[in-house]
Amino acid sequence: MQSEAVDPLMLGQRVVAILETGLRTATYKLAALMALVEHCIENLPERPDDTLRVPLPELAHRVLEIYWQQVRPFDGHELRQSPQPRARILIATNQLRAASGRAAGSVDVARLRAPAAYQSAIDEITLCLAQQPLHRLQKLPGSSTSDPFLYDDSFLHDHVSRSTLRAHGDAIELKPGVAHGLARLAGLLKPALEIMWVEDVRRMNRFLDAEVPDIAGHLFGRERSALAVVREPFKEAFGPHCFYCGTHLPANNPIDHVLPWSLVGIDGLSNLVLACARCNGDKSGALPALAIVDRVVQRERPILEQIATDLQWPTQHERVVAAARGIYRGQPAGVPTWAGYKQSQRLDISFPPRWI
Ligand SMILES: [Zn+2]
Repeated sequence: MQSEAVDPLMLGQRVVAILETGLRTATYKLAALMALVEHCIENLPERPDDTLRVPLPELAHRVLEIYWQQVRPFDGHELRQSPQPRARILIATNQLRAASGRAAGSVDVARLRAPAAYQSAIDEITLCLAQQPLHRLQKLPGSSTSDPFLYDDSFLHDHVSRSTLRAHGDAIELKPGVAHGLARLAGLLKPALEIMWVEDVRRMNRFLDAEVPDIAGHLFGRERSALAVVREPFKEAFGPHCFYCGTHLPANNPIDHVLPWSLVGIDGLSNLVLACARCNGDKSGALPALAIVDRVVQRERPILEQIATDLQWPTQHERVVAAARGIYRGQPAGVPTWAGYKQSQRLDISFPPRWI
C-alpha cells in the first residue's frame, strides 16, 4: 500500500501541485475534484484506510449541480469555461435548464420535472468526465504518464465509450485512505479550488477584468431569491422565529444553510432554516456546533415532507445526515464551531449523537 496516499496533507499537496502546474483551459478538472471531495464527505467509509467506489453517474450529478447556477448569464454575458466551441458539460446543463423551465432552482427540481432530459444530461456529463478531466487529474500537464495516486484511471482516455465504462462498473474506485483524506481536507481544498476556478473564469472571460464584479458570488454563492420560496411555508410550519436565537423575524429574513453551502452544496429542505440577519451574517461559512445540527436533523420529518411535496422541493434528509456524519467525523477534536451569535464551542464528539 502506498503510505503517502493515506496522509491527508501529502494527498492535498499532490492534488494542488497538479492543479497549479500549467495553464488550465477548462474548469472541468476543478469540477471533477470538487465533486469527488463532496462524494467522499457524504459517503465516508467506516475505516480510514478503506477504499471507496464512486459511481460515475453520481459524480456527474454533482458536477451538474455545481454548473447549474454557473451557466446563468452574468452581467448579460454567458461565461466561457472551456476553449471548445461546444463546451459539453455547459451545453448539457443548459439543455436541462431549458427542458425543466426557468424557475427550477435546483437539479433535483429539474429532475422531477424533466426526467428524460435529466438522464441525457447525466449520460453526456458522465462520458465527458471519463473522456476529459478524470484521466488528467493525476497527470502533470505535458507528461504522458499518469501517477494514479487517487484511483486507477487506466481504462479512461479521450475516446472511451459508454460501454467500456459500463464494463468497468460505471465507476472509479478511490484507493485505500483517499476518501478519508479528501473528506478531512475538504475545508481547505474546497476554498482553494474555488479560488483557482474564479481565476480561470476571469482569464477565460477578459471582459470581467474591467468591472471587478462579484464573480465568486455568481459561481459559488447561493442566490437568496432562489431560496425565498421556502420562507413562508417554513414560517407557517415552525413559527416566524430565528432557528438559532429565537428572535421574531421580519418579512424578508434570510434562509440559512445549516451545513455550510461552501462545504457541501446541499439545498434540500432538511439543510435549510429560517434565520435572522444577525445570526446568518455571524455564522457565515462556519461549521455549526453539533447540538445545532442535532436539532436540525430532529425536526419533524412529516412536516418537512409535506412542504417538499407542496413545493416540489426535496428534503434530501438522508443526504444531510450523511454529509453531517462525514464532516464531523473528519474534524479534529477541539476544533471551534459556531454555537450562536458571537459564541463558539470546541467540538467534542466523546458523546456523539446517534447520526454520527
Ligand atoms: Zn438569530
